[in-house]
Amino acid sequence: MLLRLKKGLSQPERESILLLCKDLGYSASFLDGARTLLVLEGLGRPSDRSRLGDLTGVLDVLESAGAPELHERGARRDSVLGVGDARFGGGAISIIAGPCAIEDLPRSLEIARAVRGAGATLLRGGAFKPRSSPYSFQGLGEAGLDILAAVKAETGIGIVTEVLDPRDVERVGQIADVFQIGARSMSNFALLKEVGATHTPVLLKRGFAATLREFLLAAEYVLSAGNEQVVLCERGIRSFDPTTRNVLDVGGVADLKATTHLPVIVDPSHAAGRAELVRPLARAGIAAGADGLLVEVHPAPDEVHSDGRQAVSTAVFAEIVDDTRKLAALDGRELVVPEIAACAEGTGGRRRLV
Ligand code: PEP
Ligand code: MN
Repeated sequence: MLLRLKKGLSQPERESILLLCKDLGYSASFLDGARTLLVLEGLGRPSDRSRLGDLTGVLDVLESAGAPELHERGARRDSVLGVGDARFGGGAISIIAGPCAIEDLPRSLEIARAVRGAGATLLRGGAFKPRSSPYSFQGLGEAGLDILAAVKAETGIGIVTEVLDPRDVERVGQIADVFQIGARSMSNFALLKEVGATHTPVLLKRGFAATLREFLLAAEYVLSAGNEQVVLCERGIRSFDPTTRNVLDVGGVADLKATTHLPVIVDPSHAAGRAELVRPLARAGIAAGADGLLVEVHPAPDEVHSDGRQAVSTAVFAEIVDDTRKLAALDGRELVVPEIAACAEGTGGRRRLV
């Protein structure tokens, strides 16, 4: 590990850093005459990087080999997450789709069948919605979970749904095949620890003002609590320009693919905020290396209570699936889709690579 220290530290300040290094089991030596670059040798633990980085005299942990955090790629290959019909990572791309919020059973069934028929492997729909205003529609709550359970029983499709409150983790976990942690909850550490204590995969969305490091540390909360099944989701970050709802950080996607072994997917819907921009942003996300997409789809966007402007039709969704298949083939990856016939029969899906 390599630490960069402040210039001109006093002897006692330097010694307290050296003492902690020794207590953590490292042997330490300075690289430079000014005593600002400290090399640590030894087998560290993932927590060491943060503990040393928190010291007042330490400016940066420049390189953490020897004490890798759990999300770090290091020499690791992609972690592959398989859930239901979906597979993310290791060259497999899967698409999650559905309405922003669950409304009623007939509409949810209609959307589930349509997106699955077009190639979505998981249905995403919110029962508990994180809304910026307390006066906006907050989702159907428990009733929404019951609808999701009915859709799953009827079609066999796996369910992704958001959990907002640590107290709801058990209840939502009875329905969810994947917990969604939304952008507004990315830094809810109590919630991250709670889902980290389960065996249910977690789709973690990046906060709209979170750095990539903060995003990865949020994932680290889940991983360090014992749950290794984490998918990161880039959904756009806030900028000065309101033309698009957020700015899709494609550079961030490419960077994440290099720095972590965790699967990374892209949500072009919340990045764009407008249906007509979702398809190009989906293409950009896959081209940047994403292992999947999360797309909001609705057959009647004018009737929805949340995020209607960014919902694409099932026809556009089918085009997005087709684009993804072609882009995947370009870099030797594969789009995972469910057996379409299995959906129609309501028997659950066998996985097929096309
Ligand atoms: C959503 O997925 O519907 C949502 C609210 O997304 P985000 O948390 O990214 O804003
Ligand atoms: Mn939404």
